[in-house]
Amino acid sequence: MRATTLANRLLDLPGVSVSQVAWQGQQLVIDVRLRVKRLACPDCGHSLRAGYDTRTVPSWWRHLDHGPHQVVVRCLLRRLACPQHGVRVQAVPFARPGARFTRDFEDVTAFLATKTDKTTIARFLRIDWDTVGRICQRVVADGLDTGRLDRLVHVGVDEVSWKKRHNYLTLVTDHDAKKVVWGRPGRDTATLDAFFDDLGPDRSGRIEAVSMDMGPAYARSVRADGHAPAATICYDPFHAVKLVTDALDVERRKAWNELRASGDAEAAKRFKGARWCLLKNPTHLDEGQAAVLRRLRRRGGDVWRAYTLKEAFRAIFSGDLTPQEAGQLIDRWVSRASRSRLPAFVKASKTIRKHREGILAALRLGINNARAEGLNSVVRLIFRRARGFHSPEAALALVMLTCGPITLRLPHEQASIRAG
Ligand SMILES: [Zn+2]
Repeated sequence: MRATTLANRLLDLPGVSVSQVAWQGQQLVIDVRLRVKRLACPDCGHSLRAGYDTRTVPSWWRHLDHGPHQVVVRCLLRRLACPQHGVRVQAVPFARPGARFTRDFEDVTAFLATKTDKTTIARFLRIDWDTVGRICQRVVADGLDTGRLDRLVHVGVDEVSWKKRHNYLTLVTDHDAKKVVWGRPGRDTATLDAFFDDLGPDRSGRIEAVSMDMGPAYARSVRADGHAPAATICYDPFHAVKLVTDALDVERRKAWNELRASGDAEAAKRFKGARWCLLKNPTHLDEGQAAVLRRLRRRGGDVWRAYTLKEAFRAIFSGDLTPQEAGQLIDRWVSRASRSRLPAFVKASKTIRKHREGILAALRLGINNARAEGLNSVVRLIFRRARGFHSPEAALALVMLTCGPITLRLPHEQASIRAG
């Protein structure tokens, strides 16, 4: 077998023939010719027979490694005059527009990015993390299901912080498909307005329910004309429980500060360690934590009262109550909390009373976090990884790759298995 024929088989790139193989140091450099004669615009695919001029543009892409060697594909490209995009360098079938890597290389990178961490990828593929981010963006732009916004009925809106210090993204989840279908940097009314702009009035009008946290920003956008003013707004029980858990944390911190101020440093230290025992679900406590909880119980006082209020609230959403029963318990809880003389709980009880209908709507429609919990924990995991990116768009792309409606195939799984 001639070296170029062998290289053709090994390279296995669509639409090209190998014309020459050479070593440059540790790199295997493969020169290829495009088989098609027509030139295609990289932006719109518009194809032309004639080039803009006779000049060629030397171009290269990194391909999958061969053993320890990096493989570089080179090709002389031509320019065309797209009626819409002007003079552009022609598109190639084996790489995405603007990429310095072949599709195969990018697909492998994107696959790994959804599975493993930054250090592993950087070492294995010998590219930096921001390059991984840009690759993820291209793979998502190329492979995301374009019909993902067409049949939305029950959606969830969430804010996620992707870096420390006020870097937020808004994510929209399709509750029925259990996929993240839309995202954008920011977390205010305008951020969600952009979602409805992308959807347009028809598709927006078909949305029946939107779940969200209890802040006013997202609700304002949903209620706006041309968005989904008739949709039921649901407040995820998860967010309600979190609000009450935060109130407990406020009371706990207050008690701790008082202990510290009283000079009992030892007790304050012990008490600080009690944080997780109080905030965690009691069935998730280990032996030692359960003992701490029993001690707190014997101590009694405001913190223990706050704890029982939190647990009573959490129990309402354990899943075995009808919305009607839950409604009665919420009312009873609100009245108990509002008379508790614990400022954080008085405040929380007002918020819960105000959002009562939305909380019950979430129960009635079965839109709750338990359902999306699996998705949420994946999103959280991905966001931890995405912190290394410098751009929010890259973080978003990684989320869409992992949790969005996208089919990611490795080179050997491609339908076009390019044998022969
Ligand atoms: Zn074009």
